[in-house]
Formats: sequence, C-alpha cells, structure tokens
Amino acid sequence: MYDNLLANVPTDLWIGGKWRKSSDNSRFDVIDPATERKIASVANATVEDAKAALDAADAAFEGWAKRKPRERGEILRKCYELIMRDAERFAKLITLENGKALPDSRGEVAYAAEFFRWYAEEAVRNLGSISTAPASGARIVAQHKPAGIAVLVTPWNFPAAMATRKIGPALAAGCPVILKPASDTPLTMLALMPVLEEAGVPAGVVNVIPSRSSGKVVGHMLHDPRVRVVSFTGSTEVGRKLLHEAADNILKPAMELGGNAPFIVFDDADIDAAIDGAMIAKMRNMGEACTAANRFYVHEKVHDEFAKKLTDKMKSLKMGNGLDEGVNLGPLVNKDGRDKVIELVDDAVKKGAKVLAGGKLPEGPGFFYPATVLTNVSDDSKMLNEEIFGPVASIQTFTSEDEAIKRANDTEYGLVAYLYTKDLSRGMRVSEKLDFGMIGLNRGLVSDPAAPFGGTKQSGLGREGAHEGMMEFMETQYVSVSW
Ligand code: NAP
Repeated sequence: MYDNLLANVPTDLWIGGKWRKSSDNSRFDVIDPATERKIASVANATVEDAKAALDAADAAFEGWAKRKPRERGEILRKCYELIMRDAERFAKLITLENGKALPDSRGEVAYAAEFFRWYAEEAVRNLGSISTAPASGARIVAQHKPAGIAVLVTPWNFPAAMATRKIGPALAAGCPVILKPASDTPLTMLALMPVLEEAGVPAGVVNVIPSRSSGKVVGHMLHDPRVRVVSFTGSTEVGRKLLHEAADNILKPAMELGGNAPFIVFDDADIDAAIDGAMIAKMRNMGEACTAANRFYVHEKVHDEFAKKLTDKMKSLKMGNGLDEGVNLGPLVNKDGRDKVIELVDDAVKKGAKVLAGGKLPEGPGFFYPATVLTNVSDDSKMLNEEIFGPVASIQTFTSEDEAIKRANDTEYGLVAYLYTKDLSRGMRVSEKLDFGMIGLNRGLVSDPAAPFGGTKQSGLGREGAHEGMMEFMETQYVSVSW
C-alpha cells in the first residue's frame, strides 16, 4: 500500500530546480502515525544547504519579479489546475504522513489549491495610488514592489495548505521563497515541487529544505541581508523566537500562531446547526487546528440538549487508519501530541470534569485518541488555557451575554471565536466585543482563501489570504513628483 503511494515522492532537497542530497548526507525518518512505521527517509538540510537555497532564490528573484503580472497569474492558475488533477494522490500522501482521515485530507487539498487560484487572480490587482500633496502640490505616487526573498516556515497540521497559503501570495507578488516544512510532514511539499515545475514556476523561485536543525537553518537565513520577509505558521513560542531573530535584520514578519477558540451557544441558537458547526470547528483535522474550538460556552438553558447531541455525534465517528474509507477520525500526529491530550484530559477529570464520551486510550499501534466530550470542566483546568490540539470538547455553561463575552475574551490568544444565535443583531453586537481576528457567526468554519485570516494578541501578526495576504510580500514605494 505504501509503495504505491510513495513510488514517485521525492525525498531530497529542492534547490534551484534540482534535487540534491544534504551537504553532510544526513537524513531523517518520516513516520506513519497510524502504524508507527517508517515510511520515508528525507534529506536533512544544513546551513550550507540553506546558503545554496539563498543563492538560488537570489538568482531567480530579478527574473521572476520582472515577469508580467499576467504571466505570473497564469502560472499560478496552472498550479491550481495541476494540483486538482492530482488531488487524490496528494490527499493520500497527507493522510499517510499526518494521519488525518481522507475526507479531511481531500478538503485540505482543495483548500490548498485554492490559494493558487485566488492569487492567480490577485497577481494582476497590484493597485497603487496617486494623489496631490496638500501643501506642496507635488504628486504622491505610491506603488507596491516585491519585497525580496521570503523564508517560509510551516507546521505539520496542514502540510499542504499552510504552505500554499504563503507560496501563492509570495509568487503573485513577485518574490522567490525558501520553505522549511515541518519535520513530521515534509513529503507533501516535496511532492508538490514537480507539479509547480510542470506549471512553469522557474528554477529557484520555490525552494524546499526540510531540516531537523530548524533553529540553526532558519536562523541563518533570517540573518542573510537578501531575505526581506519571514512568514511563519506554528506555535506562539517558536513565533516569538523568530520575531526576535527577525528584529536583527528588520524583516517583514507575518506570524500565524496559536489559538484558544471559544464556541458560544446562546439559548436562542438553532441547536442542530450549532452541533453541525461544533463538529466542524472541533473535529476538522481531529482537533489539530489553530482554529479548533477549544472552549465550549453553552447557555445553561440549552446545555443538556447541546451536550447530549454533541456526545451522540462524537460517539458516531469511526476511528481508524485515515486511509481506510469510512474512517473519519485518524491518529494524532505523534506520541508527544497524544501525550499532551492525555495529560490535559487527566487534569480536567481530576478537577471534576465528567466524561460523556471517549477519554480511554485504544490499544496500539498508532497515536490514536478517541472523540471525547467533557462537561462540568472547572475553570482552573489546564485545557481552558492551552491548545488541546486533539479531539476533545470541553463544555461549560453561562447565564448572561456579558458573562459569555468576558469568559471568551479571557485568554492571551485572539485567533478565532464562534457563536451561535438566531438573533443577528445580538450576533453582530457580540462579535464586535470579541477580541479575536476572526469570528464564525452561525458557522463552524472561517478559513477561506478570499478572506483575511489571522489573529490578535498572542495569535499573531499580519493576515494570510485575501488581498492583504499578497501585501505581506510587498513593500510600498512612494515617489514624490513634480511635473
Ligand atoms: P511549531 O513547533 O512551532 O513548529 C512549526 C514550524 O517551526 C516547524 O516547521 C518547525 O520545525 C519549525 N521550528 C521549530 N522550532 C524552530 C526554531 N527554533 N526556529 C525555526 N523554526 C522552528 O508548531 P507545530 O507543532 O508544528 O504546529 C502547531 C502549532 O501551529 C499550534 O500552536 C497551532 O495553533 C499553530 N498553527 C497556527 C495556524 C495559524 O494560522 N494561526 C495554523 C496552523 C497551526 P520542526 O518540525 O523541525 O520542529
């Protein structure tokens, strides 16, 4: 089964349009989280390899930046089409290295490809402005230019989409990129490279260097004066480190970091719709998403109905190898990820939480954790302050709108919040009071390539997707003109 899937997947470094071993010939293993078996051994980039990638990106920059926006757009459009042509192959590969069930992987491939289609359309919309200086009468001409080489660092939870969300806008803007994918899931991006080449992306414009020495390799690149942008998706802890490093070279930072999403259900909500939304917000990717609902606040009048219906749905999920049809709950990505979920659930149960579903580990192999529902979760439980990153729903009750808002905002994170109410004026009023970059109002999914994705507070800086996403890779230049 593996051999078929892995037959043509490259495992070396993609630098300057060529496959290369790492400079010291070192490699690292990639594990299938469903079986704990090794599925590939991937070249482990060193600082020397990072230097080669920088040279390749530098050599490609001028030519790519000079291409007409329409040409760049057409290449991006072709990337979209070719990914969709190979969608099933990519979906299976994502499942193999990340564990998520095939329906989730298929969703991710479509979402990932959309960033190429959207930015194919944005590449030709690099609008500047012209105005008259109020005092001098000179003309103020403002235009946006590609910023320079961008270093992209991505997490394992969406091996395709977190990277294409950066590659699409960078290429549309005219920037070459060097991508360091997560070490748990490097294969999907390596497999994408021949597809981008076929679509017409020139050598050196996209380089991929998996590395287990991420600190050293990324650190080196962030200190090279040719690099102008660092775009990171991952934990707040690592994001903070990279921001410190970016400061040395005054880089443009785009940071998509952790979340701790509240999911508020008012007493006037359509409960069945809220359950459908909750299943998406909580269970997409087995809960391994920065946007995952981490804290359910349910009005006390509808708590019992919501908890029962959610428990029934969670119990109906089929856990197993994500490659098997019919499975909708795969394993978590690795042992550390599962241990963290076990620790958070144990802590909540010790502090009085009641287990309505799940909570018990299945027999191995594989890093499986069952769909779990906890209620009566006490305020001092660790899972209310930390990302659970697993298939565990923790439910608490509230009695008033003000209380729901106060508790939802009581976190250092500010990525996304969800709320369900049939009263749209309440929905908008509460949305405005929630200190989050994104709100799902009667929706359990906010991600959309055409929308500005990003958070406030410790959840990040900048936006991905939409027109804003392309501006992260551009510098504004103003020309003061007398004519
Ligand atoms: P992570 O540990 O922060 O790793 C993310 C990436 O950074 C990986 O490629 C990792 O490489 C690399 N890295 C780790 N330490 C580094 C260092 N010192 N210098 C440079 N690079 C370094 O995060 P993760 O566990 O992969 O992903 C989960 C986190 O991502 C969660 O907090 C989640 O909320 C967040 N996330 C946020 C968004 C968003 O859009 N806001 C989306 C998805 C995920 P290695 O794999 O080699 O360690």
